Amino acid sequence: MAVIVLKTKEEIELMRESALIVSKTLGMLAAEIKPGITSLKLDQLAESFIRDHQAEPGFLGLYDFPNTLCMSPNAQVVHGIPNEKPLEEGDIISIDCGALKNGFYGDHAYTFAVGEIDPEVEKLLKVTKASLYEGIDTFRAGNRLGDMGYAIQYFCEKEGYGVVRELVGHGLGRVMHEGPEVPNYGKRGKGKKFQEGMVLAIEPMINGGTHRIKQLKDGWTILTADGNASAHFEHNVALVDGKPELLSTFQYIYAALGIKSDEELPYRKEPLLV
Ligand code: MG
Ligand code: MG
Repeated sequence: MAVIVLKTKEEIELMRESALIVSKTLGMLAAEIKPGITSLKLDQLAESFIRDHQAEPGFLGLYDFPNTLCMSPNAQVVHGIPNEKPLEEGDIISIDCGALKNGFYGDHAYTFAVGEIDPEVEKLLKVTKASLYEGIDTFRAGNRLGDMGYAIQYFCEKEGYGVVRELVGHGLGRVMHEGPEVPNYGKRGKGKKFQEGMVLAIEPMINGGTHRIKQLKDGWTILTADGNASAHFEHNVALVDGKPELLSTFQYIYAALGIKSDEELPYRKEPLLV
């Protein structure tokens, strides 16, 4: 079992720096995602961007992962490997990015639409992202991991979606995957109590159909068992003064895409970063 390491306020400030490098990387990529570009090209752009910000790619070499980004289109859930296949109009692609700076990791993810997408898939993205905030809102003194998992699971299952069981969120810090494990399903009032100074990577992985998954022979790529689309959104959140505080942001993505959103307002001290 991975160890839970509580962070001081000073350490949380360093973690915010690492998280924001990932946030800015995702914002840079948002402007580049269009039909015709390959996931490998996006991966190269991300690696250069992270190194230009005096940080290291967090996933490259981790457990022998070969790239900077996990890029998982359409029915891929997570851990897809960048390749030379061009993105197509109507695809969705989950981009998960890690960065290491000052000894701490940032790790978050966003699922992008490539051009116009099917309205049903658009709804899957909307619900999955909203479920992330449902989960974040439970990250408060007195609550438990089961309260978070329940909130995410209830919100997604009432739409008929499948909540992946085998993959979970995690504690984050000097190690990419610290304790506790953060399932996107659970029972209210159960599991470990949240503690001041916890930093979590909260990351619903939600399938348009069954919750069941399979893995490609590459040993990495996870897909939905029924071929339906899957969405994945992830934030890094600290428990500060008993409340959830976002260390990561999607505001750089929204600035690049011309989206207006106040979804992060309840969870950050400085509302607008961009
Ligand atoms: Mg991640
Ligand atoms: Mg993660």
